[in-house]
This record gives sequence, structure tokens and C-alpha cells, in this order.
Amino acid sequence: MEQVRRLVVGAGVSGLAFTDWLQDDDVLVVEAEHEIGGYCRTVEQDGFVWDYSGHFFHFRHPEIETYLVDRMADQEVRVIEKDSRIWYRGAFVDFPFQRNIHQLPKDELLECLYDLHFRAESHPPDQVRSFQDMLYAKFGRAIADKFLVPYNEKLYATDLSRLDVDAMGRFFPYADVDDVIRNFRRPENGSYNATFTYPERGAIQYVHALARDIDPARIALEERVVSIDLQARVARTTHREIRYQSLVSSMPLPTLLRLCGVPFDESIYSWNVVQVFNLGFDRKGPEGCHWVYFPQRELSFYRVGFYDNIFGTDRMSMYVELGRSAGFEASADEIEATRAQVIEDLRSVGFVDDHRLVSSHHVLLDPAYVHITRESVADVTAKKAALAGQGVHSIGRYGSWTYCSIEDNIVEARALADAFNLADAAG
Ligand SMILES: Cc1cc2nc3c(=O)[nH]c(=O)nc-3n(C[C@H](O)[C@H](O)[C@H](O)COP(=O)(O)OP(=O)(O)OC[C@H]3O[C@@H](n4cnc5c(N)ncnc54)[C@H](O)[C@@H]3O)c2cc1C
Repeated sequence: MEQVRRLVVGAGVSGLAFTDWLQDDDVLVVEAEHEIGGYCRTVEQDGFVWDYSGHFFHFRHPEIETYLVDRMADQEVRVIEKDSRIWYRGAFVDFPFQRNIHQLPKDELLECLYDLHFRAESHPPDQVRSFQDMLYAKFGRAIADKFLVPYNEKLYATDLSRLDVDAMGRFFPYADVDDVIRNFRRPENGSYNATFTYPERGAIQYVHALARDIDPARIALEERVVSIDLQARVARTTHREIRYQSLVSSMPLPTLLRLCGVPFDESIYSWNVVQVFNLGFDRKGPEGCHWVYFPQRELSFYRVGFYDNIFGTDRMSMYVELGRSAGFEASADEIEATRAQVIEDLRSVGFVDDHRLVSSHHVLLDPAYVHITRESVADVTAKKAALAGQGVHSIGRYGSWTYCSIEDNIVEARALADAFNLADAAG
């Protein structure tokens, strides 16, 4: 039987960041897919460059950004001032909605302001139990009903009262009354990602930067882990059995628990699926905006974005995202029908008129956004600790069952590698 000190499952950002930072060559990465990158992958087709879904980067740790960019010498990495908007009653409102209600018609502005001012009467803060309660309690009924609730219901494909107050963590653009009013005069739409970076050949370039110094012989592609014997510390893959001292997994935590034979309450883990259509047209569409949010329940998508407006190219190059429930599957005919509906909906909002679709690509991200609840947070913490006690470390967006960015994945993976490096150095 083969043996390795550190077995890494998954060659996405987390698995690669861990392997890159580990000061130990006795490591093997097994990846089920035929290429590295996980969700941070890029498709190049007919002259268009698309990610698996819109992936843009906002680094809070300059040293991580520098580390990556230094390894991308042949790439242009653009720093872009974000232009994100909301499609609302046939016009654009700047994102985030709650900071830009002064762009609404006067009667709607008054309604939003009134409900914002008296929010504590209708939704007392001490009765906030869920993400939905939080939206009403923080912003009042009108702002919640006009945008925050319908948009997030489309995205998460679930009842928002199921989600934890903190379901989006720092990714939620909070605003207090002062922020809202101040913005009437001095627009400060600065959210956590006021600027973003994007490499000219797509998000996968950050993954290539992470993998640059990893010996390719240490990455086994098209090899899936199918079961893990926690006692014997043996992983069985589609190709072989591997004895390990420690296993680092970035697969979704519920899958890992199943492969390890650890019993758990399946009802605690729920998530959405994002169906992505990447679409390339023969000519330009709307100018300027990078992405647009759609709260309208009658429109199929919740968000669309424009790569051509990032790179100033002359053919509309879009990603279109639809929120789906877990378990969603689509046959080739259904995908075709949904694509036709998407184009019809793009036409109805004026983004497409007599444009000709010249290239398209489809992918399902499953899971995409996990549903963070009190129960999931408690169970993830307990299960991760129990697994770690048996030499199995679950990391990454899905291994930690959370909402995070690739930078967060790198920080988490490096911290674990540092712990191994320290332990190894201490003998
Ligand atoms: C719609 C959407 C938009 C996003 N936008 C952004 C963004 O703009 N900016 C940003 O920073 N982040 C964004 N993210 C988050 C980002 O995609 C993730 O944080 C990151 O890609 C997660 O990397 P990971 O390695 O933890 O997991 P993954 O990418 O899921 O990698 C896990 C890997 O494990 C492999 N694997 C699973 N099971 C097995 C098995 N049994 N055996 C072997 N291999 C296995 C998988 O094939 C995969 O390659 C977005 C995510 C989504 C869903």
C-alpha cells in the first residue's frame, strides 16, 4: 500500500494553498476533476474568457496579493473601480440598495425613510432570530421588501427565516441611518470590495500562481477519494489505497463525514446550487457596469455581469447566475430551454436586442452558497474538531461550510500548514 505523510484531497484554492505553504515534500494531492482549480476555474472559448461564475478579488492582506501577483509575471492584473448596480423598475440604482434609496422615485424614498426611522416599532431588535428578521430590523420594511428580501431569496433559493443572522458575515453591506442619509449628499458606496482585481486570462491565474512551485508529480488528477478509514488512516481512491498520517480535505463537509462513516444529522446541512450561463455575443451591450442585481421574482436570474466592461472589449461577454435548490439537475433539453428563457429575460430588460449569441457555456456550482444556521455553525465546529482529533482536517469554503473568499481560503490553509511546519520543526 502507498504511504504519504500528508494527503490532500482537492486541488482547489484551499488544497493548493496548503500544499504550497507546507515545508514537507512528503505530500500528495488527489483531485477528482481532470484539472486543478475547483470553483476558481476559467473557460476560454471562441475568444471569450469566462470563469465558472463571476470571480473577482478583493485582497485584505496585501502580502497575499503580492505573493500571488509576483507569480503571475506574464499576466496583466487589472485593478478596477467597481460599478455594480441594481435593476429596479426599469432603471439602474447603485448598489447597495440600502445606501442609495435617494435614487428612487420620491414616494418610494419617503416610504423607505419612514420605515427605516420606525423600524424598531415594527421589528424590535431584541426579537431578531434570523437573517430575514435582521433585514427588517436593520433597514425597515420597505427597503427589505423592495430589494433585500426578494433578491436574497432568489440567490439562496430558500426561506430567509431559516438562515442565521450572520449568514453573510462581512460580505453583507451594512448601513446605519447616518450612512443612508449621508449618502444623499456624498455618495459612499464603498463596500468591502470598492475595487477589485482581475487577471486578463481569468480567475484560474491565481490558482496557477498557487500551484507554480508545487511539483506536478505531487498532484494526481482524475482520482477521487471514495472512502476513508479513520482508525487505520487509509484513504481509498478510485485508483488505489493510500495510508496517511494526516489528511487535509476541502471537499464539502457532509460528503467528508459520509466517506469517513461519521454519523450526522443530514437535515442540518442545506445549500443552494448556482446555475451559470456564460454568454458571448457578436457586439457590445450596456456600457460601464460590471455587474447588475435583479430582485424581480419574475426574472430568471438574480445577477448578471459583464467581462467586456472589465477589459474594454467590443463584444458583450456575460455571466448569468440563477439560484436553484439543492438537488437541482437539468437535462440537455432543460438547459437549452433555460438558456432561451435567460435570453428572453435579458431582452425584456433591454440588455439584448438584435444581438447574436455566438458562444455559450453552462455550469452548475453544487453546492454554491451554503445555508449558515445556528445548528450548522455548532455542528461544523464540533465535527471539524472531532475529525482533527483523528488526523483529518476539513478546510475551505465547503470543508468549513461557510461563506468566504479565495483569500480567506488561503489564510485558513496557510494557518494549518504553519501548524504542521511548526510541529515538524519541533520534531
Ligand atoms: C457563485 C460564486 C461566486 C464566487 N465569487 C467569488 C469571488 O468573486 N471572489 C472570491 O474570492 N471568491 C468567490 N467565490 C468563492 C470561491 O469560489 C471559493 O472560496 C473557492 O473557490 C473555494 O476553494 P476551495 O478549494 O475551498 O473549494 P473548491 O473550489 O470546491 O475545491 C475543492 C476541490 O476538491 C475536489 N474534490 C471534492 N471531492 C473530492 C474527492 N472525493 N476526491 C478528490 N477530490 C475531490 C473538487 O473537485 C475541487 O476541485 C465564489 C463562489 C461562488 C459559488
